[in-house]
Amino acid sequence: MKPTHIEHLGIAVKSLEESIPYYESLLGIKCYSVEEVKDQRVKTAFFLVGATKIELLESTDPEGPIGKFLEKKGEGIHHIAFAVDSATEALAEAEASGLMLIDKVARKGAEGMNIGFLHPKSTHGVLIEFCSK
Ligand code: ZN
Repeated sequence: MKPTHIEHLGIAVKSLEESIPYYESLLGIKCYSVEEVKDQRVKTAFFLVGATKIELLESTDPEGPIGKFLEKKGEGIHHIAFAVDSATEALAEAEASGLMLIDKVARKGAEGMNIGFLHPKSTHGVLIEFCSK
């Protein structure tokens, strides 16, 4: 399953309150949505840059995935999300080709998207997300 484009880049930040004005000023674009994703223990903020979004991720729980990432690595790029027709099918294809998955089946992410992650141990260190509408 070929991705159609990079849907978004996920960037871990300590504080949305500080980062949103920074990105608004850097990009000259307003943040169009702030949303809490309880399942992932994050608050997200989105910017649209062409066909690709920037997703800022603030942790709501130090034990959550972004909380742990910030603790280990500090702020920075967290994942790349590729837009595909079906996240579930893309995950199944990745698994069939021998890649390790974090999510065997797609789940609901921010903006109501179906999302699933590949395991960075089998993707040369980059956390890769597939997402579909
Ligand atoms: Zn994402």
